Formats: sequence, structure tokens, C-alpha cells
Amino acid sequence: MSQDIALQVNSLRVSYRSGDREVKAVDDVTFSLYPGERLGIVGESGSGKTTLALALMRLHKPPAYIMGGEAILDGRDILALGLDEMRQTRWSKLSLIPQGSMNSLNPVVKVKHQMADAVEAHERGLTKNEIAKHIDHLLGRVGLPGSVAEMYPHELSGGMKQRVCIALAIILEPSVIIADEPTSALDVVVQRVVMQTLNDVQAQLNAAMIIIGHDMGLMAQSADRLAVMYAGKMVEVSPISSFFHDPQHPYSKLLISSLPSPEEKRELAGIPGSQPSLLELPSGCAFHPRCPVAEDRCRAEIPALRQISSQRHAACHLVEELS
Ligand code: SF4
Repeated sequence: MSQDIALQVNSLRVSYRSGDREVKAVDDVTFSLYPGERLGIVGESGSGKTTLALALMRLHKPPAYIMGGEAILDGRDILALGLDEMRQTRWSKLSLIPQGSMNSLNPVVKVKHQMADAVEAHERGLTKNEIAKHIDHLLGRVGLPGSVAEMYPHELSGGMKQRVCIALAIILEPSVIIADEPTSALDVVVQRVVMQTLNDVQAQLNAAMIIIGHDMGLMAQSADRLAVMYAGKMVEVSPISSFFHDPQHPYSKLLISSLPSPEEKRELAGIPGSQPSLLELPSGCAFHPRCPVAEDRCRAEIPALRQISSQRHAACHLVEELS
């Protein structure tokens, strides 16, 4: 993995405004994404994962607003780009496979027409023949036969539809791909196939990929590093093997201890209590009401995400630097 940085996110803050109230959905999130790496982001529902993805794409909608921070891609802060520049950047440099994307395909329009629309929107001036060739190439990249172009989405299985969505996301060969719950609503065998397709495509493009999800088994098999989100903050970022063998943050430890084994499919569950409402966050560390080792200090001070070793970060007052 090169140490060049594909995407550098610094102090990103995204809030939902409700009347006079500001609800911090993504709160001071900082991370680096390296070329060719797969960064998994896990967290319970409402932890800010999808809001983070949409904000990076600048596809968030009111009442969500970016309140601060930067996201550096190719030397430019994409959060500060004008709308036209962002339109050019989106999909060509940074693309998203949104949650539930396979349901966004129009079931009664042939795959080739939906793909042609996307190809033409991005690459003007191509002949019909060139577009057909491009579609055939894209379908091949995601392991689908060219004949799928002549089919309607309602004739495709869930896994095939999801692979069409992956093909749509890589039309312009972006350097960063964000996949938000790319295998949700698929059965276990198909999940593996779709993840493998994503991994293959990412490797072919040498793209960096953010995989958002809550299936720890899939993360263990696919991600190089894992970032854990809790109540809008990143609380641990670690290489995948260190994370599973020696989690540092108390929340990560509970996540791991609830798994029968890293390889086994298991969704985030089984941790006592529930994530707090973002409208009424506890004082200090938002995890303190559920934390088995919380101290007085935890109720008063918000822990910052700190570097604890060359490749690991954690946000907890009690985590010491690793030697
Ligand atoms: Fe637990 Fe305190 Fe660490 Fe928060 S800061 S995770 S409450 S020990």
C-alpha cells in the first residue's frame, strides 16, 4: 500500500438542523484513505456512517449541512468546490454505491439503456457503437455477460442488479469508491459474490474503497483497516488484524466479544444498552452509559481520537499508547 493519500478527511462535521437545534450526525471526523486500500466503517444504525458518505459526495440534503472540515482529494478540498466542479469530480474521482442502490434501477427499462444514459451523461460525443462496447466492457468488469445489457432489471437476481450498480459506479474509473452497505438485502452466498466483485473491481482500478456496513464477518474478509463510529464520532481506527486480535476501545472490545469468531457472519448486536439519541447525547464520552470501565472523568470530558501506535487511533481516556 502506497503511503500517498487518496482522500484526507479533516475534522468533518455534519449536522441536521431542526429549528434552533443542531444535531451533530458526524462530529469532528478525521481519517486518511490510502490508494488501493479498503477501509471498513462500522457502527450501529444512526452512528453517522451514511451521513458521512453522502457528505463526502456532497449529496446530503437539508436539513443536513456540512458545518466544517475538509476532504482533500487530488490536492483540492472537495467540500469547498463549486457545484459545477463538484459535478465533474463526482463519479470521475469519487463515486458512491448508495445503500439500496439495486432498487434504484428502473425495472422496466433495459439495462443497456440505463447504462447508456449514465455513460452519455459522463462521456459526451460517443457513437452508439462505442457506448455499446463500453457497456459490454463494464459488464465484463463486474463478471456479468454482455447479454445482461438486453435484459430488464426485473429479470435479474439481486446479486446481478447489485453488480450492474457497481458497473455504473465505475464508469469513469474513480480513484475513490464508497460502498454503503453494498450487500444488504442479499443472501449470504450472494453477499460473498458481490463483495468479491467489488474487491476485484477496486483492485483492477487500484482505487481506494470505503466499505460501510455492520457485518463484521464481511469486514474481516474484505477490509484492510477498520474504523468504528459511535454517535457521530470515530472511536477506533486500526488495521483489521490488530482490531480483531487486540481491540483497544471499550466499545470495540464489546463488539469483538459478541462475535463467535471473526470469520463468522454476525451483525452488530448484543451489546447492552443502546446508542444514545443524537438529540440528547450524554455528557463527556457518549459511550459512558454503556461502558463497563467508565470513570468520573468520562462523564465530564470528551475523549479525542488519538494516535496510540504508528497505525492505530482510539478515542478513550483509558487507552494507553501501545509500545
Ligand atoms: Fe469508556 Fe471512558 Fe473510554 Fe469512554 S472514555 S470508552 S466511557 S473508558
